[in-house]
Amino acid sequence: MTKKEKRRAYRQDPKNKKRIARQHAAYQQKNRKKIANRKAEYRRKNKKKLSKRRHAYDKKWRLRSKNKIAKNQSKWRRKNAKKISKYRQKHKHDISRRAAEYRKKHKHEISKRAAKNREMPGSRHCALLRRHKTQLAPRRGCNGKPMSLEAHCKKLYYADGRDRPCWYCKGENNKKGSGLDRLDNNKTYTVANTVPACRGCNTWRGSTHSVQETRDHFKPMRDAARLKKKENQCQNGNL
Ligand SMILES: [Zn+2]
Repeated sequence: MTKKEKRRAYRQDPKNKKRIARQHAAYQQKNRKKIANRKAEYRRKNKKKLSKRRHAYDKKWRLRSKNKIAKNQSKWRRKNAKKISKYRQKHKHDISRRAAEYRKKHKHEISKRAAKNREMPGSRHCALLRRHKTQLAPRRGCNGKPMSLEAHCKKLYYADGRDRPCWYCKGENNKKGSGLDRLDNNKTYTVANTVPACRGCNTWRGSTHSVQETRDHFKPMRDAARLKKKENQCQNGNL
């Protein structure tokens, strides 16, 4: 038996265990200050190393507990919904300013992410690609020159990747489906013949209403959207 093994056997012997623990506690009690000082000094000296280690551990922990954290967060948010909305109301300007700054700083990442989202299966962009393959290709009986994929994208998205609103109601366009309405239903999807339109407006128009009727019908919604936008701008301008 080596010296080390002997020592371990001694420590683990139930006869000695209690005594050792007692001695240890007494030592700790007696030298409490000294130990604390030594620990503090070590922490001071190795600040960088320790913080690095802690961050690495935290990162690993966050990755490992991703689902747990998300669950807890959503639980907390549900529980404190009132508090959150109050806070948001109070710090509205700060929040919108910070969001604008973030958007400005991370412009490339955002547009990249938007591009990636567009390619996701089941997304509107995928529907768009499919439609291009099957329905928009030049074919017999088609009236007009079908638009290019690029033109199609321009119809649906702003240059920075945000969605264009519905032309009829100024509301959010649908995430799936083509998101376009043909002004003249006898013509194909050309640049001049299409406008971004949500499913609701598209359905309302169908083949029963004309473009003008649809525009008139959804005018109150457009006005409301415009008013809301104006209000937001005023609030941001008063900062
Ligand atoms: Zn609409």
